[in-house]
Amino acid sequence: MVFDTIIVGGGPAAVAAGVYAARKQMKAMLVADQIGGQSVVSDGIANWIGDILIPGPELAKKLKDHLESYKEDISLSLQDTVTSIERDGDMFLVKTKKDVYKTKTVIVTTGGRHRKLGVPGEDDFNGKGVAYCATCDAPFFRDKDVAVVGGGNSGLESVVDLLPYAKKVYLLARRDELRGDPITQKIVRDSGKVEILYKTNTLKISGSAMVESLLYEDKEANEEKELAVQGVFVEIGTVPNSSLCKGLVDLNDREEIIVDHRTFSTSMNGIYAAGDVTDELYKQNNIAVGDAIKATLSAYEYVKKFGN
Ligand SMILES: Cc1cc2nc3c(=O)[nH]c(=O)nc-3n(C[C@H](O)[C@H](O)[C@H](O)COP(=O)(O)OP(=O)(O)OC[C@H]3O[C@@H](n4cnc5c(N)ncnc54)[C@H](O)[C@@H]3O)c2cc1C
Repeated sequence: MVFDTIIVGGGPAAVAAGVYAARKQMKAMLVADQIGGQSVVSDGIANWIGDILIPGPELAKKLKDHLESYKEDISLSLQDTVTSIERDGDMFLVKTKKDVYKTKTVIVTTGGRHRKLGVPGEDDFNGKGVAYCATCDAPFFRDKDVAVVGGGNSGLESVVDLLPYAKKVYLLARRDELRGDPITQKIVRDSGKVEILYKTNTLKISGSAMVESLLYEDKEANEEKELAVQGVFVEIGTVPNSSLCKGLVDLNDREEIIVDHRTFSTSMNGIYAAGDVTDELYKQNNIAVGDAIKATLSAYEYVKKFGN
């Protein structure tokens, strides 16, 4: 069997693509390791249109229910992962952990993941004091001293999540200013619990069984300094899950898939992409969904013109 389209991913973008492909009666398959996407870990997803605030697991359930309501019209391979996409004449071979499929188009919605610091100790203490999601893990740091690395919105929001629990929070920014929105900055500054350290460069995370300290460079003083902390939250942005497409479609210098923002086509005919894996400026649930719908409608038009 040859599919019209294979959707890779399980976040809001993938589900939107799946629903629209099913509605268009495309021969479609969705391959995902899990349904829900990266915000499934969040306590409160803001402004998913129609819901003022919705917990991540609830949104994931709604997405899954919506997709499964079309189960007569779309093939699903869940708890599966796409391992490669290869050109095969004017079609594509999509290999997954479970099988290999042939398809006329591919819609890539593989999203993003947390960027790592890449310093000694980060991997050794992952889950032992090093964390990437304050919304999920803040309660484990009750009455502890914690460092948050990252002076942007995610860093500030992590600090806000930690405020009810942590004894003290050090916020380490690379620049001489914070980049997050002014309202969150005010909450952080007014809390009386947070010490903001500017012009820093994190060098090492140390401990024995659990994290005990963080070494950083104070670039202003040109000195290495150590903080006694039991937790380190890394909040320095995300990286796109685009490795599947390396060498297949054009990526920008941040490794995001470059798309035409009208059609969501990529540099390779027949491959479309949407959501956080692309060079879309705004990484948001609603935007990922809208982009994925456009990608699916474009794939549908492409398939209509495809010779049998
Ligand atoms: C903690 C947190 C809170 C957030 N809060 C908000 C908010 O309040 N409001 C908002 O609008 N946005 C929020 N966001 C951003 C939002 O989650 C993203 O913009 C959105 O999830 C992007 O959707 P996506 O479908 O493009 O990618 P993702 O949600 O990243 O989904 C990609 C999915 O594809 C799967 N996948 C990846 N590679 C493969 C493969 N090879 N094979 C099979 N499956 C694969 C992944 O496991 C993942 O499930 C938040 C993000 C985080 C991390």
